[in-house]
Amino acid sequence: MEFNKSRILVTGGTRGIGRAIVEAFAHQGAQVAFTYRSSTEVAEELKKEISGLAFQCDAADIHAASQVVEQVVKAWGGIDILVNNAGITRDNLMMRMSESDWDQVINANLKSVFNYSKAVCRTMMRQRYGRIINISSVVGRIGNAGQANYAASKAGIVGLSKSLAKELATRGVTVNVVAPGFVETDMTEAINPKEKESLLRGVPVRRTAMPEEIAAPVLFLASKEASYITGQTLGVDGGLSM
Ligand code: NAP
Repeated sequence: MEFNKSRILVTGGTRGIGRAIVEAFAHQGAQVAFTYRSSTEVAEELKKEISGLAFQCDAADIHAASQVVEQVVKAWGGIDILVNNAGITRDNLMMRMSESDWDQVINANLKSVFNYSKAVCRTMMRQRYGRIINISSVVGRIGNAGQANYAASKAGIVGLSKSLAKELATRGVTVNVVAPGFVETDMTEAINPKEKESLLRGVPVRRTAMPEEIAAPVLFLASKEASYITGQTLGVDGGLSM
């Protein structure tokens, strides 16, 4: 897999899975831009570490998305790979879930994928080359009590990706989904040890994933070698969704 000088945009790149993806591409000699919402100090350090570009903006903001894409294209002349990774949780049982919890999760996790995919479409079509990889979740495939908003957003990503894959297939642009299981990041740190233990009992490999284990399949789907794969969802979940 060759990413030397590839032009890459990752949403939510400061922490967890997004950061592992940013670092993995940078390690391969790619030019990497990333967005984040609030971790300014971390973002500045990472930007220096990878000699890349950083943009502070809410992924749910469609105007900001088109401005970010515009600036990356201006700096590097195009975008080869987009990874829609930014995501949040606001868990609660449906009967207690507020409208705001619903809206925030749908906007940050699903609308954001629309925002950035729409913004890069024209450039990728003109280039007759592009890779879009969207980060879903095992929860979008099998559901989870207390995560109706999150599951809906992550299942929505699959439908969006298949539709976009069909729209862009003849233009050399592929669109695929990676659906991680239980990954060691800030997002899952809040889960108490007892609950973690019971969650892991359902995972055939009996352990959590490290963010790098999600980045690796993302890089494969983003490679030139994956040119005949589009509209697919790759479960990276230790067998949980079998
Ligand atoms: P994380 O550790 O909480 O990191 C989330 C990253 O996204 C941070 O860089 C954060 O930036 C950024 N972000 C969040 N909301 C944003 C917004 N509205 N606009 C721009 N950036 C935003 O999360 P993670 O565990 O790495 O998860 C990454 C993705 O994988 C998410 O889509 C998540 O749903 C998915 N996923 C995670 C797991 C898991 O077990 N961890 C499993 C399946 C799927 P700030 O620094 O500014 O907050």
